[in-house]
Amino acid sequence: MKTVNHWIGGKAVEGASGNWGPVTDPATGAVTTQVALASAEEVGAAVAAAKEAYRTWGASSLAQRTAILFRYRALLDARRDDIAALITAEHGKVHSDALGEVARGLEIVELACSITTQLKGELSTQVSSRVDVAAIRQPLGVVAGITPFNFPAMVPMWMFPLAVACGNTFVLKPSEKDPSAANLLAELAAEAGLPDGVLNVVHGDKVAVDALLAHPDVTAVSFVGSTPIAKYIHTAASANGKRVQALGGAKNHMLVLPDADLDAAADAAVSAAYGSAGERCMAISAVVAVGAIGDELVEKIRERAEKIKIGPGDDPASEMGPLITKAHRDKVASYVTGAAAQGADVVLDGTGFTVDGYEDGHWIGLSLLDKVAVDSDAYRDEIFGPVLCVLRAETYEDGVALINASPFGNGTAIFTRDGGAARRFQLEVQAGMVGVNVPIPVPVGYHSFGGWKDSLFGDHHIYGNDGVHFYTRGKVVTSRWPDPSEAPAGVDLGFPRHD
Ligand code: NAD
Repeated sequence: MKTVNHWIGGKAVEGASGNWGPVTDPATGAVTTQVALASAEEVGAAVAAAKEAYRTWGASSLAQRTAILFRYRALLDARRDDIAALITAEHGKVHSDALGEVARGLEIVELACSITTQLKGELSTQVSSRVDVAAIRQPLGVVAGITPFNFPAMVPMWMFPLAVACGNTFVLKPSEKDPSAANLLAELAAEAGLPDGVLNVVHGDKVAVDALLAHPDVTAVSFVGSTPIAKYIHTAASANGKRVQALGGAKNHMLVLPDADLDAAADAAVSAAYGSAGERCMAISAVVAVGAIGDELVEKIRERAEKIKIGPGDDPASEMGPLITKAHRDKVASYVTGAAAQGADVVLDGTGFTVDGYEDGHWIGLSLLDKVAVDSDAYRDEIFGPVLCVLRAETYEDGVALINASPFGNGTAIFTRDGGAARRFQLEVQAGMVGVNVPIPVPVGYHSFGGWKDSLFGDHHIYGNDGVHFYTRGKVVTSRWPDPSEAPAGVDLGFPRHD
């Protein structure tokens, strides 16, 4: 059986804790791989390698860093298919979707290639007589990243390219459910010339995470995952004096106004709800139909959803793959099974679905629940599967109030032809990312990604300007250079003024 080991100090390091975790091919249900689960000592070795590398990397020139990043970008570009194949084998998503994930991760590598522009700093000359003030940003040191299963390549790429471009060294703890893509990303970084120890990967579970949170040499933590763990990471890392950004779960709403193009809205709802089997933090999981359009919209969604082809991710005919684990599949199914008792109309029930020849895979079909109650489990919880809830609202105001009552605030979208209503929605809705006739408004690399409320703990969004800010700290240098002809100013015990 294949094993996945750590990547520390520029080379593969065999797991020594004696603990291994199973990695499953979600399409077959077979355990294909064992992943090393790090002990606190092994995490300590990765942090030590990163700390040693920081001594030179932290002082490296921007030209050195960007030369490596440009080579890295080219290698990643050439190996897109290989990265995507690893994602499909362990996550289950279809190959085209995995390629999309790699492309969106590459965006951040491209952003990192432009770090020269972003770290330019600011200078004010002659703020006082012969006094200049310069604001510069410097790296933090060793930074840790902890990532979820649903984007095993893209989410790590949201973090480490920018962190190392800013001069930090990095320890990545990927999801133990689909760990292989992270190792390939690290190997390619080494091939691009990234010095040993600048990017390290330790695999593991809570033991490894807690060791990172407690380690005194880890200066900052970037986390992406579910809300309860994000809250825990934010609290624990903050208590240990670390800078932390912790992105959590979501329940993303799509508000459809009566004037919307209902065919376009139904296309968008099906793509955004069922893509990647709903295992996206930006998936649309609740459609709010405003006015009298509900029945027609539900019918259009049903027609489209019924045609989606579900199968193994490496079959080019498949549009949707299986779920990550059997336990997750069963949990998702329980929301559909319990929906009718909590008042929903079950328009599509995907719980009995399987794929011939792959009966042990983690399959579930598409489910569509209509007239879902706001106090039902299917609405309240992040299901993270191919289950779309439809709710009804009488007016635009009722719809926005419903969305704003959600504890989550990651992404949201409005579908309408009315520019004035769309503009109001942008200003009134409580979410970090808003789409106007765009169902999955994931910001491009040079803007930042992040939610509000229980979808993000901390005050920095990830990548873009916020990413550069998160991975650096500011310093302001005030300099006085007397004119060579000037006599010394003499002693003055007064507080410095700007004269
Ligand atoms: P998760 O929270 O279970 O795991 C995320 C990471 O935390 C993993 O590396 C895991 O090993 C670690 N972890 C899990 N339990 C832990 C514990 N008790 N203590 C310490 N560490 C622990 O999330 P997941 O199931 O891998 O990913 C899916 C979740 O991530 C969904 O809720 C999804 O919405 C969210 N997500 C959010 C975003 C975003 O940008 N907001 C992006 C992707 C995924």
